[in-house]
Amino acid sequence: MKEFDFIKQYLVARQDKDEQVVLGIGDDAAIIRPQAGLDIHISSDMLLGGRHFFTDVKPADLAHKVLAVNLSDMAAMGATPKWATLSVALPQLDEAWVRAFCDSLFALADAHGLQLVGGDTTRGDWAFNVTIMGQTPQGLGLRRAAAEVGDDVWVSGRLGLACAALYDHWNEVHLDDDVFTMCEAARLRPQARVALGQGLLTLAHAAQDVSDGFAQDLQHILTASQVGAVVNVDALPTLPELKQYEQWQQWVCAGGDDYELVFTAPATAREAIMALAADSQTAVTLVGKITADTGLKLIDASGEEVVLTHKGFDHFE
Ligand code: ADP
Ligand code: MG
Repeated sequence: MKEFDFIKQYLVARQDKDEQVVLGIGDDAAIIRPQAGLDIHISSDMLLGGRHFFTDVKPADLAHKVLAVNLSDMAAMGATPKWATLSVALPQLDEAWVRAFCDSLFALADAHGLQLVGGDTTRGDWAFNVTIMGQTPQGLGLRRAAAEVGDDVWVSGRLGLACAALYDHWNEVHLDDDVFTMCEAARLRPQARVALGQGLLTLAHAAQDVSDGFAQDLQHILTASQVGAVVNVDALPTLPELKQYEQWQQWVCAGGDDYELVFTAPATAREAIMALAADSQTAVTLVGKITADTGLKLIDASGEEVVLTHKGFDHFE
């Protein structure tokens, strides 16, 4: 298939425009009209073949992940996803592959009211970059630098599953079949916590999504806010079956690829947060406290300090 057939049949034909999209796919640039009283949040996340995904990944799974990791950044700010651009490099434009990719991409975009307004398509080694834009009421976006001493530390969903699946792929561990199935589903189809993030706008102080490992990502909040935290590793939510593997603490605290939200909120917000969790059908767990002493202290249920071999993922480490 040719580049322009792809754009016409699979992108222009599927595009849907809201009232703020003055001009969508098809010109040199899209035009978006800002609305009074709303801030626009912009973020990009890139996935590379061989680094972020195996190049024999199913196109539907890949499309889901490419978008979900970007939706997760909007969730972390409490923003409502609105528009995205998608730049792709592919070794060839195989029509069946492209169709499966686009069906999955638009299914997830539609589920979030997200519109694709542009992008770029080139031949090359597998690379997918999405730039996503979302909105919040002016001044309300959740930032990393807003944690306060005495806040509770919360995390959504379950941590460590995606990393456990990756260890199995690398033959570093052999997960039982049913455990692998659950972990692999978490790795391939992360669920961006958009509804939770939006609800947290008026409840949480600081928030961030867990993409590179819980300890490292929480540390970003602590550094930005000039505070510390104590977290009970035994309280961190995970798949209970993972605790039979010796690496479980490493996976849960430092695994990455979880796309859950870690956030801080005053204790007075506890009931409202539990109600929001029920409304948004997203489990949340209270795992620690923000302290005036800087640094992140990980302890177990008996109060012993937990030491990790590394705290998270760094591409240049
Ligand atoms: P230009 O030459 O100005 O870069 P292109 O011919 O590459 O324009 O693209 C034509 C139109 O198709 C543009 O509106 C562009 O935003 C859109 N487009 C191209 N590739 C993609 C893609 N992968 N996803 C979404 N929109 C795309
Ligand atoms: Mg172009």
